[in-house]
Amino acid sequence: MTAEQKNESASREWLIPEEGQKHLKDIFKGLKGDVRLVVFTSGDPKNEFDAYLRRFAEELSLLSDKISAEFHTVKDKAATEHKVTLTPTLLVNPDKYRIRFTGAPMGEEARALIETIFLVSMGASGLSPASKQLLEELKEERNPRVFTSPGCPYCPGQFMNAVKCVIAKPDLVAAECIDSDEFPDLSSKYRVGSVPHTQYSETFSGVGMMPEERFVLEMVALKDAEAALRERGMQPQAAHGHEVEAEKYDVIILGAGPAGLTAGIYAERSGLKSIVIDKSIIGGQVATTPNVENYPGFKNVGGMNLVEILTAHTREYSNVRENEPVEEIKIGKRIEVYTAKGVYLSKALILATGSQWRSLGIPGEKQFFGNGVSHCASCDGYTFKGKKVLMVGGGNSALTDALHLKNLGVHVTIVHRRDAFRAEKALQDALKREGIKVIWDSAVEEIYGDAERVKGVKLRNLNTGEDSLQECDGVFISIGHIANTELASDIGVHLNDDGTIKVDRGMRTNIPRVYAAGDVTGGVRQIVTAVGEGATAALSAFEDIQNPYWKKKA
Ligand code: NAP
Repeated sequence: MTAEQKNESASREWLIPEEGQKHLKDIFKGLKGDVRLVVFTSGDPKNEFDAYLRRFAEELSLLSDKISAEFHTVKDKAATEHKVTLTPTLLVNPDKYRIRFTGAPMGEEARALIETIFLVSMGASGLSPASKQLLEELKEERNPRVFTSPGCPYCPGQFMNAVKCVIAKPDLVAAECIDSDEFPDLSSKYRVGSVPHTQYSETFSGVGMMPEERFVLEMVALKDAEAALRERGMQPQAAHGHEVEAEKYDVIILGAGPAGLTAGIYAERSGLKSIVIDKSIIGGQVATTPNVENYPGFKNVGGMNLVEILTAHTREYSNVRENEPVEEIKIGKRIEVYTAKGVYLSKALILATGSQWRSLGIPGEKQFFGNGVSHCASCDGYTFKGKKVLMVGGGNSALTDALHLKNLGVHVTIVHRRDAFRAEKALQDALKREGIKVIWDSAVEEIYGDAERVKGVKLRNLNTGEDSLQECDGVFISIGHIANTELASDIGVHLNDDGTIKVDRGMRTNIPRVYAAGDVTGGVRQIVTAVGEGATAALSAFEDIQNPYWKKKA
């Protein structure tokens, strides 16, 4: 850093909080090559998005001498050269790559920018061998455009899939991250109803964060992965066959929610070498919880914030990997775990695989998913600002999400099947304070709409049996969760009648050396209990590895 930069850094009022600056400085110490951030603004000094991006890029450049920032307006020659018409826009190393952020990265997108800086600087895509092999088939240009929102924790993962492809094939692949909230016309042109929404071409798109290999396959084939695999005469998992050297651990933890992350800390502190692997994003359900008010020590903390704190703590001890679905587990003398990216061997296995959103199973629900129907208020709430939505459910999640939507300026009404909520009193009180309307004793029977989007629902009053139509622009469904037990069932772990994993007080399953923790075991399903169960499972694994109880019985 030059003396001039040092002076500026000391005197400025920072957008990035002090803790964040320290953390980024640390991360940026690992940068190898130079990274050029090229910002285009409208030229209007009052534009808040322009001002934010300008400041953010400037601050990033002050945190590492490998990062530089330069600024243009959309009227400059550079804008014509790089075909920039929308503002604000940020290009990353435009001489070598075509990576573009359209809109100010004000929330989760900032995470995608930091990861992009890192990958670009390293010049390494980090794609798995299977993805690289698929990408070799690409012979023409692709420009995946990923629509995101500031509150969507899945969005950075999907955009990073695209960035990795750009780095691996800069001559053929370009990538764009578009903030759907800042560009409503563009979002409406491509019918973005749920984020991340990836527009692979003018006519082919996909919704949700995808495992990397699926993203690459769909981008190359311009059709959904199942159809592309069928055409090649392959089973879904056959796309991932490859040779890699096995990594050896004492304990493998599947699932990076609060239970899995805590298990990682406790395992390593007990002296067990561990790895935490998640099929999707780190944090599980907590990552999509707008606010948490019942985790001891935190009066009110954003779900994603809590996840970041927990993850940083776990990473001090253990390896944490995301977006890596497990394909197969073999239990023999050793435990073997296979993913698309690696083979892992261990003495013990902790299943902290959490749960997934429960569906209503009514007409229109699947058809309009991503076009007005959503499970994730943190991700999709922004797209309903000023619009009318229904929130179905009466538990803690439904009320927390309804309050979040109200806060974003969405006109939300709750529909609940009974005349009393299951949610805690504090949330019910907040609902009353905010004046959120409730339609009691009612079930949503059908979701209807036109060719593009939801227009309303058919409601049945469960007391009178009367049906009525309720117009709305969106339906959020928050009616609980179903335990993710597919992997557990595959290896013969016993389940309870409600489909959760059966465990003893030490979180041991019926299979020696296999443990379970968190929502996948049922119970009260709180963050605080998940954390406790993760710790217990890791300590039981430690005890059993030292002192194998199943061998004594034999
Ligand atoms: P939940 O507590 O199981 O509540 C589900 C709600 O959906 C209930 O009100 C239920 O109605 C309703 N429902 C279920 N099936 C339905 C159907 N087919 N049609 C219409 N309504 C239906 O689920 P949740 O709110 O997702 O919470 C899950 C767990 O996570 C809970 O243990 C909760 O306490 C916990 N959680 C914790 C935190 C935190 O720790 N900070 C935050 C959020 C959630 P009935 O009431 O009539 O059964």
